[in-house]
Amino acid sequence: AKCGPDGNFSKGEVRPFGPIAVSPSAGVLNYGQGLFEGLKAYRKTDGSILLFRPEENATRMITGAERMCMPAPTVEQFVDAVKKTVLANKRWVPPTGKGSLYIRPLLMGSGAVLGLAPAPEYTFIIFVSPVGNYFKEGLSPINLIVEDKFHRASPGGTGGVKTIGNYASVLKAQKIAKGKGYSDVLYLDAVHDKYLEEVSSCNIFVVKDNVISTPAIKGTILPGITRKSIIEVAQSKGFKVEERLVSVDELLDADEVFCTGTAVVVSPVGSITYMGERVEYGNQGVGVVSQQLYKSLTSFQMGLVEDCMGWTVQLNQ
Ligand code: PMP
Repeated sequence: AKCGPDGNFSKGEVRPFGPIAVSPSAGVLNYGQGLFEGLKAYRKTDGSILLFRPEENATRMITGAERMCMPAPTVEQFVDAVKKTVLANKRWVPPTGKGSLYIRPLLMGSGAVLGLAPAPEYTFIIFVSPVGNYFKEGLSPINLIVEDKFHRASPGGTGGVKTIGNYASVLKAQKIAKGKGYSDVLYLDAVHDKYLEEVSSCNIFVVKDNVISTPAIKGTILPGITRKSIIEVAQSKGFKVEERLVSVDELLDADEVFCTGTAVVVSPVGSITYMGERVEYGNQGVGVVSQQLYKSLTSFQMGLVEDCMGWTVQLNQ
């Protein structure tokens, strides 16, 4: 098997959800050779179903597979498999505004391997689950704590790809933070302990004087598809967007802070605690920029406006 896109994946089939069998010496179980993706299908008001930027997830999985020394389905195979899985589960796509169907593609080294080496065989699986809106009543702010003990990623590591081990390594910090009443953890860079990276499963943006800044992609944060989409939406609305090093000190006098991700979409930050000091943002965190961007992005995702960005893929039912 080669690393990266590989058309050799066999056609596959749709089956009922249930356990799968893998060898106890599977590469994924022993050496963490696994990647996943997350995307959503939304129902339009006319009943049809839209996927949001599935080729972006396919491309990100291919990049991840190159890093993890795994073969990956081609973009076409990936998108085709997502479409088939969603169509087979179309009754589970909630009505417009009532949530979405979360789609979870998984790629794993399923072949048996004893000494440390890439697995000899790979399996690509997609499962789905309906999910409600992350926030029941519009936008509801989250409270973050800047992590001062653990790091999520280091330069040259795998922080920039969606590999399963990245998530195992953040469970502890997240559990401690939740135990203290915070919603999640905000990570700093591992070299200077000074620049913002991201939250456990979303990217972060800081707004000051209508300029929107977000940490640049440099291998230690996940290139979020929502992040990329929000940057494009914001620019189309005339905002200046900067992708750069964002210092933790900038949180202190920011006008608004928000997070982006497939699960949270756009999530305003109500407060951030850093070195024992708590900064609160105006209007309980629900700033005007976050609100405006949330509304624009969700309108595209649910097909409420014309897709001038070419972001959605309509399924033929
Ligand atoms: N960072 C991390 C670590 C994530 O797990 C996710 C969720 N995939 C994101 C950022 C946001 O990415 P996306 O917008 O593509 O969901």
